[in-house]
Amino acid sequence: MARLTGGVCKLCRREGMKLFLKGQRCFSEKCGINRRDYPPGMHTRPRKTTDYSMQLREKQKAKRIYGVLERQFRNYFKEAVRQKGNTGENLLVLLERRIDNVVLNLGLARSRFDARQMIAHGHVQVNGRRCDVPSYLVRVGDSIKVAGKEKVRKKVQEAIEINKGQAMPAWLDANPSEMGGKVVQLPQRGDVPHPIDEQLIIELCSR
Ligand code: SF4
Repeated sequence: MARLTGGVCKLCRREGMKLFLKGQRCFSEKCGINRRDYPPGMHTRPRKTTDYSMQLREKQKAKRIYGVLERQFRNYFKEAVRQKGNTGENLLVLLERRIDNVVLNLGLARSRFDARQMIAHGHVQVNGRRCDVPSYLVRVGDSIKVAGKEKVRKKVQEAIEINKGQAMPAWLDANPSEMGGKVVQLPQRGDVPHPIDEQLIIELCSR
């Protein structure tokens, strides 16, 4: 399972905005963007903005928010093209439906990385069956539950406490007492909370 490794704050600094890759820690004063408000690297002189650079940054931003690498992102794009309707919206909805995103949105993990690790280690069940693939796409009616040992359950309980005030997307129904939740409907474009201009991504990927 390929994944992003290394420090993640530099990814936010590259995009010039908070991508919230560390969960609640991103709200603290120690946030990398607060401390170093400039792009990472040694040669940070201002670059010329072109149509291509804007499209590329938008794609990179989406990839980084959802924690997917290039090849997987291209596969999501192909699938979005294949589906009926607006390709850009289809793309974002596919990314939202990833099980790691769902576990995070249900407030069962502190960060996307934690959600992903919990899934990869087999601590998450979908409809009563173990699901260890973070890219699994949830469907309407899917029931998600954490079914780990004491140590895992304690970690999840802590995450639930931390995420208590978090807004719940309309397409999910959380059940914190059961450490799980349900998919009540598929997400719509309006349910995507991230500032992504999908049109720029489509223009780039369609080249
Ligand atoms: Fe990004 Fe979070 Fe790091 Fe801030 S703390 S730079 S939002 S990953």
